[in-house]
Amino acid sequence: MRLILRGAFNDQYVKLLNQASDVRSNATFSSFEKDRKEEELYIRASSLKKAYREAPLGCGVCGTQAIEDDLKYNEYNHEWFCEVCYNENQEHYKKNPHPWLPCWRKLYP
Ligand SMILES: [Zn+2]
Repeated sequence: MRLILRGAFNDQYVKLLNQASDVRSNATFSSFEKDRKEEELYIRASSLKKAYREAPLGCGVCGTQAIEDDLKYNEYNHEWFCEVCYNENQEHYKKNPHPWLPCWRKLYP
């Protein structure tokens, strides 16, 4: 199932980026139209990427997509991580508290 969803994401994401590139090189659009159409496509691509990162399809840090990797959900930032990245982040926040962020126990319980 993950493979199918990743494929669908990749196809749509690349399609949106290619459309944005086509808009930029299209001589029939004014500069204003290019900016507006490009922005719309990049917003859609960004929204799609956000949905991808919030789905259990790969690690939000290293991007690993190996099926055999167990992904761990982080409730704070609504992303999935492989076990290695999750543990590294947890250790990092334990050793380097960020005063402007919640305690590591909340970030990476
Ligand atoms: Zn990772």
